[in-house]
Amino acid sequence: MKGKIIVSKFWTRFFSAGKAQAITIFPFIFLRELANRSDKVLINHERIHLSQALELLILPFYILYLLEFLFRFVQYRNFLQAYVHISFEREAFENEENLYYINKRRPFSFLKYLKK
Ligand SMILES: [Zn+2]
Repeated sequence: MKGKIIVSKFWTRFFSAGKAQAITIFPFIFLRELANRSDKVLINHERIHLSQALELLILPFYILYLLEFLFRFVQYRNFLQAYVHISFEREAFENEENLYYINKRRPFSFLKYLKK
């Protein structure tokens, strides 16, 4: 699943509360800048989220993502720390530099990152 890339500063900021360079709203990958299009690691990170969203039938992915963010925010009391500790983000950050990761990734791999 490669997703449809949309370059839009407005929508990327809108969906990420102004925080991100990119955000995946299935089946779209929103990028803040045109230059982000050539950032293979960033696009790969977002494609990992597309895989996660697809296996969770999309809407539950966003609900679980938000719930885990709230849980992590209570745990860390810090926006950035809460965000980087979400299991979906841990999986994406740990594997974003492996451009073949989504081809060989096993379904529900984010569960391995839930325990920390
Ligand atoms: Zn991410």
